[in-house]
Amino acid sequence: MQLSHYLPDEDVLSFWDKDTAQRWKAVGFSIDEEAQLCIAMADPLDIRITDQIKRVVPAHIPLRFFIAAPDDVAHFIMLAYGGVENFKQHLSEMEQEIIAPSEKMLGLDANDAHPVIATVEALLAEAVAIGASDIHLEPEEKSVRIRVRIDGLLKTLSLLHRVSWPRLAQRIKVLAGMDIVDSRNIQDGRFHLNIAHKNVDFRVSILPTQHGENIVIRLLDQARALLPLEKLGFSAPQEKLLRRLCLRPDGMVVLTGPVGSGKTTTLYALLRLLDHQTRSIRTLEDPIEYQLDGIRQTQVREQFGLSFAEGVRAVLRQDPDVLLIGEIRDTDTAQMALRAAMTGSQVFTTLHTQDSFGVFPRLREFGLSPGLMSGNITATVAQRLVRVLCAACKQMRAPDAQLKAVLADSVHLPHTVGHPRGCVVCDHTGYKGRMVISEVLPIDGEMDELVVQGATRAQLLKCARAKGFISMAQDGVAKLAAGMISLESLMAEVDLIHDAAGI
Ligand SMILES: [Zn+2]
Repeated sequence: MQLSHYLPDEDVLSFWDKDTAQRWKAVGFSIDEEAQLCIAMADPLDIRITDQIKRVVPAHIPLRFFIAAPDDVAHFIMLAYGGVENFKQHLSEMEQEIIAPSEKMLGLDANDAHPVIATVEALLAEAVAIGASDIHLEPEEKSVRIRVRIDGLLKTLSLLHRVSWPRLAQRIKVLAGMDIVDSRNIQDGRFHLNIAHKNVDFRVSILPTQHGENIVIRLLDQARALLPLEKLGFSAPQEKLLRRLCLRPDGMVVLTGPVGSGKTTTLYALLRLLDHQTRSIRTLEDPIEYQLDGIRQTQVREQFGLSFAEGVRAVLRQDPDVLLIGEIRDTDTAQMALRAAMTGSQVFTTLHTQDSFGVFPRLREFGLSPGLMSGNITATVAQRLVRVLCAACKQMRAPDAQLKAVLADSVHLPHTVGHPRGCVVCDHTGYKGRMVISEVLPIDGEMDELVVQGATRAQLLKCARAKGFISMAQDGVAKLAAGMISLESLMAEVDLIHDAAGI
């Protein structure tokens, strides 16, 4: 049976509590037309458990048992009883009020204290508490799904009745300063709240879908984004290289990686290694996500003529020592960034490329000649964020034989690797947090020479290897051998077959 088709219902959950449900791997999910209590179980043939269930449910209620996958049962229990009690409680109060308004409610206007306001606040507080990076509110045909992104993966937090959706959406629009009447257009907004003594910024984006407005709220939590370099998961040699690069007075450091690979967090960590008392540190960002102490930040506004390239031109007239350019996405910006590096500023920036070697062909596409790049790009860095195994429950054993056979030609896997298991600490996912997997490619005279000659990736890689270059795949396999990450979590982010050939 498919548990995911059912909405958790208070009436059928009240016979036993969450702990018991988890122990029994059994959960009530519905009352059918014949007034039978329907119970989903991982093993309905286990009579020790069915007997106990018969003892706690009043005798006049007939029982009907269904078999369901153990993971589905565990997930439904999480959803139904919630690790999110507070939010759930507000949600159910709100739904009751909307479905059957009490007399107290009828006399109030929408701006007065209202369960909707409490529900939205509880949802935001819950998302901050569990370390979510985004909240997705997704109207479907009959319900609204609320999902949160934790460590890069979405997880359903709750399903709610569609009837409460317009009020909830309206409240979020009010908070984000949006037009509450308009439900047909794209809208963007942001707001700021102090939650549990933490300053959190929320960026809201609304996009209409066939079932109504889909809302995504991004959480910008200062405390999580401003981690020091040593907390990001760089291996010791990579971290040392990065620290050395920051000591150079000029030249350009280019970070690459897809959206969500933690580039901004790394850039901020690098900037904070620099002395802002004696140097002028400037940034151009789109948008400014976090405020940094002692650093002058400028928001790029293309619509008002302040593009990245214009911004660099303007900042260069203000005598900067260090310049962070949020992203190079056109020829103009690429040329201005290089000019800044050539005229004595230390430049940090990002580009979208697969790996650290992809920077040179990409900059050539942007019209930079290899001769100009030579001597001015000090390093390229590529990174990914990979889920870390939960230390409380991971298991070390041999890697999956099939996977091992597939990878045999490219990677020498360690004899034992960590496998996810799942426990209360990691919310039964087997993972907790993420770490950086990276490659740092310093560009010295010899590498410069190769770039000028238009060397292929293979030639550059060979030269880098001879100088001790560690690729993302190698860094990942080392962390795999140390039991920090699993083969599955590594392969989800790093192309072992392509990157690792011959390691
Ligand atoms: Zn665990």
